[in-house]
Amino acid sequence: MSIIFVSNRLPFKGNATTGAVERSAGGLATALGPLSDRMDSSWVGMWDPDGASKEEYKHILKKHHCVPVHLTSKERKGYYDGFSNSTIWPLFHGFSQYVTFDDGTWEAYQKVNRKFCKAVLSIAKPNDTIWVQDYQLLLLPGMLRKELPDASIGFFLHIPFPTYEMFRILPQRRGILEGMLGADLIGFHTYDYVRHFLSSISRILGVENHAGTIWADARMVRADVFPLGINYQRFAEAGASGKTKQLIKTMLTANRPAGTKSMLSVERLDYTKGISNRLRAYETFLERYPEWREHVILNVITVPSREHVPSYKRLKDRIEQLVGHINGRFSTPSWQPIYYYYQSMPFEKLVAFYRDSDVMLVTPLRDGMNLVAKEYLATHDGTTGVLILSEMAGAARELNDALIVNPYDQNQMVRAMYRALTMPEDKQRRRNATMQDRLRRFTSARWAEIFLRSLSQVKEQQGESKVRTINDGTRDDIVHAYGAVSKRAIFLDYDGTLVPFVDDPATAIPDKKLCKLLSRLAANQNTSVVIISGRDRDTMDRWFGELGVEMIAEHGAWVKIAGDTEWRARIAVNNSWKERIRPILQEYVDSTPGSLLEEKDYALVWHYRGVEHELAQKRIAEMRSSLSSVVENTALELSEGNKIMEVKVTGVDKGSAVSYWLSNNDAPYDFVLTAGDDTTDEDMFRSVGSETFTVKVGSGPTSASYRVKDCYAMRDLLQRFADADETANH
Ligand code: UDP
Repeated sequence: MSIIFVSNRLPFKGNATTGAVERSAGGLATALGPLSDRMDSSWVGMWDPDGASKEEYKHILKKHHCVPVHLTSKERKGYYDGFSNSTIWPLFHGFSQYVTFDDGTWEAYQKVNRKFCKAVLSIAKPNDTIWVQDYQLLLLPGMLRKELPDASIGFFLHIPFPTYEMFRILPQRRGILEGMLGADLIGFHTYDYVRHFLSSISRILGVENHAGTIWADARMVRADVFPLGINYQRFAEAGASGKTKQLIKTMLTANRPAGTKSMLSVERLDYTKGISNRLRAYETFLERYPEWREHVILNVITVPSREHVPSYKRLKDRIEQLVGHINGRFSTPSWQPIYYYYQSMPFEKLVAFYRDSDVMLVTPLRDGMNLVAKEYLATHDGTTGVLILSEMAGAARELNDALIVNPYDQNQMVRAMYRALTMPEDKQRRRNATMQDRLRRFTSARWAEIFLRSLSQVKEQQGESKVRTINDGTRDDIVHAYGAVSKRAIFLDYDGTLVPFVDDPATAIPDKKLCKLLSRLAANQNTSVVIISGRDRDTMDRWFGELGVEMIAEHGAWVKIAGDTEWRARIAVNNSWKERIRPILQEYVDSTPGSLLEEKDYALVWHYRGVEHELAQKRIAEMRSSLSSVVENTALELSEGNKIMEVKVTGVDKGSAVSYWLSNNDAPYDFVLTAGDDTTDEDMFRSVGSETFTVKVGSGPTSASYRVKDCYAMRDLLQRFADADETANH
């Protein structure tokens, strides 16, 4: 299999001192590195030579099939420092106070995503697998989908996906979601993020899902959870090595009185990491438990990060002041409470810090996953050590045996520090063992394997669906079949099939262009055009009466065949049932803002297009249970359509209406086409048999054999029929 990995940066970096090029140490490079070496793969990303010699990096990039994306400093500033790290990063982590909105950075973000798209297209083949990583490239899956409709595209978000209430703030919210939905599989670290994403696509795009399966633009997409792991063995081996032991002795324990316990905090300098909250909790700890003064130290490692972004610069000053304040307040001639390091630690030193620490403080205010927590546990493989972990980190979903804290609750943090420092050793080992077991199995390599396997499963499922999307080729075949015969019948649903949905159904009047198209088609003696809708007779007469088309109203209750001046009722029925059902539905309208009741001859319809998704789902569940007993043993049934719930007379459906129409028109039809968008149209597809053309308009499961994206694609097909008629007549 050929696979293209795409991430903001390539997984290699230059070493300014040696001029060499090395693999980056980050979680993603570690996760995908071995996989990319093993497979027929390429990697697209930004490249920062950082002092590496040109020869060396050219050689390495070529050897590892890396395609560098070169950005100007202006592009990088707008795309990376700007939209990625000053808009998306704070917003997705729930820090709206740090979010900046700027048209310029959004422009740069789009432009750079297009640059990445171009770089991928320069090497991609139509059926390749492309795996796009993270929040800097949210638009890329959508851009790639347009160019490579058949590619397997995966997307993984390494940061949280925010709640709808937070996400909706983003002016570019639609574009971002549409970009993500270009993928076939969208991965997140925790189920909370999946839920938030599904809620946003439902409320913002009106795209629904069934247990994480989404229908977007007539394509099946899955959203699922894939928690990223670490290279456990590497950290476990390094933790237990003699080199680490030696380093601990020379670098760490030599500088403090024997018997002093050590706590550690390691992260990029970022406001999401809650460094100040942790320092303040430590200060309170020393205040409240004076017996621990001179018996514990805290090592704080902050790794320089995004120093061009103003909020990061301010944070650095604040943290340094706080460290100075605590050291000034509590230090004694032989002891200082905090050792502060503002630097990136090389692997060996980092492992020594991990292994040396009795307590690890991982208390971010918000964190997509947090690998530091996992790395700490791995370096303590089989030994003691206590992890204090924020419930706001994705890792908390997996590491239940850590001391879980709310980082905003200072008292709880202080108590956890005390508990951790006094926890019996056998208990520490026991708790760690459960978590270490999990981390040993769910490594970063396994994460990548599972994601890629799921991606190919989604592709298989898409392939299994027999529905063929109408493209240029299939469209020509259908138009050819239409032109080749002399007797045709075309059954067209209206709302959602010929016009888009609108909030108020009364305003969905056919536009001039559509009226012209329908009259042109119906003008052909050999073509019967039948509009088959759930609408009432009066509306249909008003909207379509002059177009020369035939009509079926109220989902099949009324039929008007060519030459009829009056509507024919397909069944005679007593409508006294409405008196019983109307008050019940009216109650639902009253208690559900945005919904409305429509009365038809043979049906009462509850419309919920304007209702919030979750509320609508709740009401439908209630309706199903309360109304099913009412309609039991009556001539009524419940029927669900596109954002409608209908109580109607049994036996009235579009399928039986089409059969009725065909049996009342005795000419043999060589070409029958039915088109519709919702569940009521499925009856029609099923009734006409496999010899005909059945067309589903839009997304969702269907028994139709063809699919078009939307009503405009449907109109385009009809236009081709009309054009074919004209060509044939000349
Ligand atoms: N790390 C590092 N050098 C350091 C400190 C940390 O390479 O001095 C690495 C650490 O090993 C971990 C990563 O940085 O793999 C941090 O990942 P995490 O998910 O915890 O946080 P992020 O920085 O991605 O928000």
